[in-house]
Amino acid sequence: VAKQQGRNTWQWYQGKGKQVTSEHVLLRHDLHTALRDNQFELYYQPVVEAVSGRIRSVEALVRWHHPTHGMISPGVFIPIAEQTGQIIPLGRWVLRQACQSLADMRARGERLFPVAVNISSLQFRRDGFLDEVQDILDETGLPPELLELEMTESILLGGAEQAIEMISTLRGMNITVAIDDFGTGFSSLSYLRDLPIHKVKLDRAFICDILTSRSNAAIVQGIITMAHHMDLVVVAEGIEERVQQQDLIRRDCDLLQGFLFARPMPLEDLLRLPDILPAMTVT
Ligand code: C2E
Ligand code: MG
Ligand code: MG
Ligand code: MG
Repeated sequence: VAKQQGRNTWQWYQGKGKQVTSEHVLLRHDLHTALRDNQFELYYQPVVEAVSGRIRSVEALVRWHHPTHGMISPGVFIPIAEQTGQIIPLGRWVLRQACQSLADMRARGERLFPVAVNISSLQFRRDGFLDEVQDILDETGLPPELLELEMTESILLGGAEQAIEMISTLRGMNITVAIDDFGTGFSSLSYLRDLPIHKVKLDRAFICDILTSRSNAAIVQGIITMAHHMDLVVVAEGIEERVQQQDLIRRDCDLLQGFLFARPMPLEDLLRLPDILPAMTVT
């Protein structure tokens, strides 16, 4: 029995290990040419006013149209891109593409929303990041007021002082800065006081069971109250049900983002959305 178990364990381990490794190596390899071959696309998801459903901004979310695997989610390939360093050119592409698309919409006289771009902490902490942002704004002619940058608490790992200084610079450039996935990181609430940000985005992990978990509800309420005392705007992510919207309105959350209002979508679909999104419970 022991031998059999050992063997099964080994097979399982080898099978799983092999599979993960080969898939990983494959994607790693394909990531190299994906940018050159134009396989990335930005999707956009609206962020709405909690009470009215009026669109206030959009978040750019990258998609990879892989030639044989189909669409691959950023949850899968962003970590790989971070390991290989590909996140640097990819992140630059995302930022430039989002700014260019918005600048084009502006030139055509279309309705405009500020666009939020996710920035990997590796990208943020790399020398020259601020110059890169300024160059892209100059190249595209996008007014900085229309750009938001979303970063997670992990930007602090490379040294809090430097992160604070960089965020002050971004703020001075009139760019909005948000802390993404707030509450899931390593840090306590106190660092919020020192970061010159504008917004916090509450992670979906707290929102999904806000009606059943008293502790998560308490965390959410605590963060909203504290953030408001610091004049920060609070966004809740992952809203899928009307009861979550109602609960978050009652807790005075400012903005909501989630499938209840809209899924991430290609730019051409975004252009056709009404100003106010009705709540549509996910089925
Ligand atoms: P995030 O920045 O926290 O983005 C929110 C994620 O939640 C998105 O997943 C979005 O599609 C998903 N979401 C929004 N509303 C709902 C909802 O109601 N229910 C559920 N279940 N999910 C919802 P997505 O697009 O798969 O992106 C995952 C993560 O990948 C992002 O999390 C972000 O951390 C990263 N990411 C995406 N695009 C980029 C990028 O251009 N650069 C970098 N560095 N990271 C990116
Ligand atoms: Mg984000
Ligand atoms: Mg988030
Ligand atoms: Mg998240």
